[in-house]
Amino acid sequence: KRVNQAKSGVTPMMAQFLEIKAEYPDALLFYRMGDFYEMFFDDAVEAAAALDIALTKRGKHLGEDIPMCGVPVHSAESYFLTLIRKGFRVAVCEQLEDPAEAKKRGSKSVVKRGVVRLVTPGTLTEDTLLEARRHNFLAAYAELRGEGALAWVDISTGAFHAMPCPRVRLGPELARLAPKEILLSEGAEQDLAGIVSESGAACTPMARAAFDSTSAETRLTELLGVSALDAFGQFDRAEISAMGALVEYLEITQKGKLPLLRPPRRESLGSAMQIDTATRRNLELTQALSGGREGSLISVIDRTVTAGGARLLERRLSGPSTDLATIHARLDAVSYCTEHPGFRETLREILRKAPDMDRALSRLGLDRGGPRDLAAVRNGLAQAQALSEQLAGLELPALLRRNAAALSGHDALLDLLDQALVAEPPLLARDGGFIAPGHDAELDEARTLRDEGRGVIASMQAQYAELSGVSSLKIKHNNVLGYFIETTATHADKMLSPPLSETFIHRQTTANAVRFTTVDLSELETKILNAGQRALEIEKRLYDSLKSAVLAEIGTIGATSQALAEFDLSAALADLAAREDWCRPVVDDSRAFLVEQGRHPVVEAALRRQGGAPFIANDCDLSDGSKPADIWLLTGPNMAGKSTFLRQNALIALLAQMGSFVPARSARIGLVSQLFSRVGAADDLARGRSTFMVEMVETAAILNQADDRALVILDEIGRGTATYDGLSIAWATLEHLHDVNRSRALFATHYHEMTALAGTLEGVENATVAVKEWEGEVIFLHEVRRGAADRSYGVQVAQLAGLPRAVVERARAVLEALEKGDRESGAKPKALIDDLPLFSAVAAAPAPAPKPEELSPVEARLREILPDELTPREALDLVYELKSLL
Ligand code: ADP
Repeated sequence: KRVNQAKSGVTPMMAQFLEIKAEYPDALLFYRMGDFYEMFFDDAVEAAAALDIALTKRGKHLGEDIPMCGVPVHSAESYFLTLIRKGFRVAVCEQLEDPAEAKKRGSKSVVKRGVVRLVTPGTLTEDTLLEARRHNFLAAYAELRGEGALAWVDISTGAFHAMPCPRVRLGPELARLAPKEILLSEGAEQDLAGIVSESGAACTPMARAAFDSTSAETRLTELLGVSALDAFGQFDRAEISAMGALVEYLEITQKGKLPLLRPPRRESLGSAMQIDTATRRNLELTQALSGGREGSLISVIDRTVTAGGARLLERRLSGPSTDLATIHARLDAVSYCTEHPGFRETLREILRKAPDMDRALSRLGLDRGGPRDLAAVRNGLAQAQALSEQLAGLELPALLRRNAAALSGHDALLDLLDQALVAEPPLLARDGGFIAPGHDAELDEARTLRDEGRGVIASMQAQYAELSGVSSLKIKHNNVLGYFIETTATHADKMLSPPLSETFIHRQTTANAVRFTTVDLSELETKILNAGQRALEIEKRLYDSLKSAVLAEIGTIGATSQALAEFDLSAALADLAAREDWCRPVVDDSRAFLVEQGRHPVVEAALRRQGGAPFIANDCDLSDGSKPADIWLLTGPNMAGKSTFLRQNALIALLAQMGSFVPARSARIGLVSQLFSRVGAADDLARGRSTFMVEMVETAAILNQADDRALVILDEIGRGTATYDGLSIAWATLEHLHDVNRSRALFATHYHEMTALAGTLEGVENATVAVKEWEGEVIFLHEVRRGAADRSYGVQVAQLAGLPRAVVERARAVLEALEKGDRESGAKPKALIDDLPLFSAVAAAPAPAPKPEELSPVEARLREILPDELTPREALDLVYELKSLL
């Protein structure tokens, strides 16, 4: 690369740039020059294209022009975001000393510079770069002697977790956490490339040494200030290795300024409902198939009023619990809030005013914060205090009681912040103005001096106006001259000549004004400046001490913040339940799956928005506990509502186990440990792979993993191939689920033939989505009933879809012929499903419609006619035509 070329004969600045750049070959180097970050060479070429900014040149390097581009420092954040989204990393290189210092060393000397931060997708902290309501996880995956482990951290909130994770579970766990970036040891990178790219995370390879578990342990104990990690749980070597790699990476990217991490929490593999990537996508939990949040489950159920509450909701929804006690405790909290609407409203009113303390804390910890972050902590703690007062004397359920305890106890800090900070401080500490008057006597004094000076200037102006006799004379201030006396050109002459010129010293003449200073004015100016400077210094010192006071309590403030999120979520779920008429589910250890009048929250919301027909609620009863498996085989025409029914039941199980009420009149759910959902390939075209292959791989995954605690949703499996193949695959899949997996399952198919399975498999029951035929057309009732559909309505649906009438008529004739053949020959239904094209199937049928060539020309012509579609004129023409054929 050009960058690595010999450094002889280059300017000192370029030499410095090249030296720093060599350390960051994989990042764009933002090289600070005054008010700009400049990029050079290939970095400039790439950045200019990615940011759509001008590419220019700056001097020559080894005889060639140096490409260059730049962005202003004050708007750099938005450029970071664009670059991160486009897959770049940015190394931020700052000036580490005042340029004046460098000058003192000699004219050739360059300002000291160094990289202070590496901006990567998993290490963002700025509000402008983050989505407030979502986590921003950085993950690391380690493998040690065949054991895998995953660790993850959100440096914007301090959350830190680890869990054992065999390789087969990596995909699903990444799908649950949706990290923005994942660290892998060099070498593992290729093996895991598929899984990682599926998850959408940026992959960062690290040297194997970063994953060394022994040094990791030392790093972690130092970081957390403990002698052994056991204090936080029994982590195995692989988990420690993954956590160690995270810490190492943070050290590299944050340049030694380590974010304040909460003590790591160990998750066990079975504590959350297992939901794999395809299922999450298919059920559109946090993201709709179209890609955005719009149309996802979370977009419809999120009623939280704080960012922390929203993040907690996302976490719960991504990993519903499998622990009955946990689920019941959460449901109790929601119940309490539904039963006390007044309390709920007060709670939400208070929470609405609570800012995002987690992210403020993390910025303060990384020294990237400002007075506004201190104010966020103050306001958050104040709301926690207010909430705690509201809770006094209430008989709260256990979960809320536990969290209530974490709300108070910050009196001293709160008092300090309260009296130290102004109500609405500025974003940056740099310009001061955030410490409230009365907090610090020295600061007050400096400020008085500074402000009085300004008062003195006003009286000085009056005095000089009198002295000069120029009443329009003004004392003004700008950054170049400081304070100066200004008068219009017409009055200036008198002041330029004695005796006035002895007092007024000429400074500048502009187009229509002349500017002066005086000895007194410049003395006063120095005083004002000094006082202002001192005030600033004091404020900065106070800022640091307030920051330290906050950071000293980071653990308990974090706990308060989590408690607020828990209250927010309980109240939000209660609000949802009350407004949408949801019920509290019974979740127990049985194998029951009984939903009465269940609804699909997202489809229901969409129908309501369209203002058309209401959503039809449906029952689902998979189990009476006596059968080896419990499967509903759902038939019915396309568009009847099969997919909707399938998914709504999966969502109800998931909502129940995350601790939410559910969209139904009643529900009893026996604990679901794994949730699988698959759609036949035809619905999956958008993904553009060999869709049938994908479908089969995914179905195989289910059949290999599902156990008797799984809930399986299969929608039109086998559709992606020819009819016979498809039917056989669907058939065998259902049998396997029934006999081997013994799961609870909902199975939708348009293969009518499969309804026969209900007769042979004990645990399979037929159900159908009812439709009504009226004057040859289909009306969808969206009602799920037990029993098999009496026939397929494909032809009518084709008509609804606007297929040309001639084609529909033809299809009807073929269908009739097929059905007639079926009755007369008594052939097995399967025998009539033919892979042959439609028209040859007709020819082969037992009582076929006469073949076209056996008809006389008149008959043939008549057969083609659709009388309804003829105009009178065409009918008359036709009569002439027929006559001519005789
Ligand atoms: P299928 O899977 O049988 O082809 P879908 O489940 O995709 O049918 O449903 C098709 C459409 O019918 C949905 O987009 C929705 O608008 C409507 N629908 C489905 N179920 C219901 C219901 N229970 N009540 C009202 N409308 C429904």
